[in-house]
Amino acid sequence: MEFGTGNGYSNGNGYTNGNGHTNGNGNYNGNGHVNGNGKANGAKVVKMKPMDSELLREQGHIMVDFIADYYKNLQDSPQDFPVLSQVQPGYLRDMLPDSAPERPESLKELLDDVSKKIMPGITHWQSPSYFAYYASSTSVAGFLGEMLNAGLSVVGFTWLTSPAATELEIIVLDWLAKLLQLPDHFLSTGKGNGGGVIQGTGCEAVLVVVLAARDRILKKVGKTLLPQLVVYGSDQTHSSFRKACLIGGIHEENIRLLKTDSSTNYGMPPESLEEAISHDLAKGFIPFFICATVGTTSSAAVDPLVPLGNIAKKYGIWLHVDAAYAGNACICPEYRKFIDGIENADSFNMNAHKWLFANQTCSPLWVKDRYSLIDALKTNPEYLEFKVKVSHVHHFVTNIKEPSIYIEDLKKRYHIHVEYITKMTIRN
Ligand SMILES: *Cc1c(COP(=O)(O)O)cnc(C)c1O
Repeated sequence: MEFGTGNGYSNGNGYTNGNGHTNGNGNYNGNGHVNGNGKANGAKVVKMKPMDSELLREQGHIMVDFIADYYKNLQDSPQDFPVLSQVQPGYLRDMLPDSAPERPESLKELLDDVSKKIMPGITHWQSPSYFAYYASSTSVAGFLGEMLNAGLSVVGFTWLTSPAATELEIIVLDWLAKLLQLPDHFLSTGKGNGGGVIQGTGCEAVLVVVLAARDRILKKVGKTLLPQLVVYGSDQTHSSFRKACLIGGIHEENIRLLKTDSSTNYGMPPESLEEAISHDLAKGFIPFFICATVGTTSSAAVDPLVPLGNIAKKYGIWLHVDAAYAGNACICPEYRKFIDGIENADSFNMNAHKWLFANQTCSPLWVKDRYSLIDALKTNPEYLEFKVKVSHVHHFVTNIKEPSIYIEDLKKRYHIHVEYITKMTIRN
């Protein structure tokens, strides 16, 4: 169905006909743009009806068929879908008009365009022959969850804007924490002040904990000592760590990336860490953050969490465990051992969009002390405030979400599909 034909957009009592905005001598009728002698002569009157349920039913089916056919063809005719896109840089500009089309097109025409012009420029992460970077974890469950979420289009920036969104996020992250056998202090129902919150990506997760740890230490030593703060990772640590530090104002020369080699399977050597810390302390630096990794991106190395945790504890340093890549696997009892020692970590994240069948992107993050996150990033604008009676849960609910620095829109979509996926995972 085209926009503006038949009984779709253009009739009824909407914007353009009847008593709507533009009837009479307005833009659309008479000599206006659309009818009569206007530019788009001959086009039917377009009545905006963005939530037409019948249109959704009809076109939604077309879209689902299109995607299902794509998945099927990826499997059945891989020769038609070279995993690595074969186009040359800039290919698309020649295929598309210089400015937005003036006339609407039907969904069918649009999908034809997608097949001819967009598909050649797609690298097929969902192809069974795709082996780059990391596996795409797109799944039917993830897709359906996204669909439900897109349909409800929930805004979840405070508890009040949709209580279920916020509450579901917390409950599901407790489930996931239990599946991973994370220590009690990472649960929202645990004895401490812990809890989980979904970040858009692994990069964001690392960024928010660097900021939380930075502000925790600056509160203790004074803001003027920012140039003295040092952080530790290894030469295998994901590049997002360095970026997070730079965004957080950590001086580039204070980022220590310790050397690894095959003698520790590219894990961070605890002796080097302790030596670097002692050396920095002797020079008047302030060590405040260690980023350990379970499953490094380049070599799947696992840093030894037990000794690293002991060092972090001894010197009062925030230990973050970035398990973006391999953390998902630790749900399996036989792989849980890779996060042994997590008890001494202050924060932990993993990417459900890597191995856990969540469509891009979803990065659950757990912190031991949510107030460090809240204190570092809360803004508490007037328009997000509301009064609630049951303060413990809701305080957490309201505030831990606010420090998420990425747009809330990105986050909200996971609440539903993470639940769905978690259920599927448990069932399977
Ligand atoms: C993928 C990955 C990241 C970054 O995650 P994004 O969601 O892509 O931002 C961070 N750390 C490790 C170990 C990773 O594998």
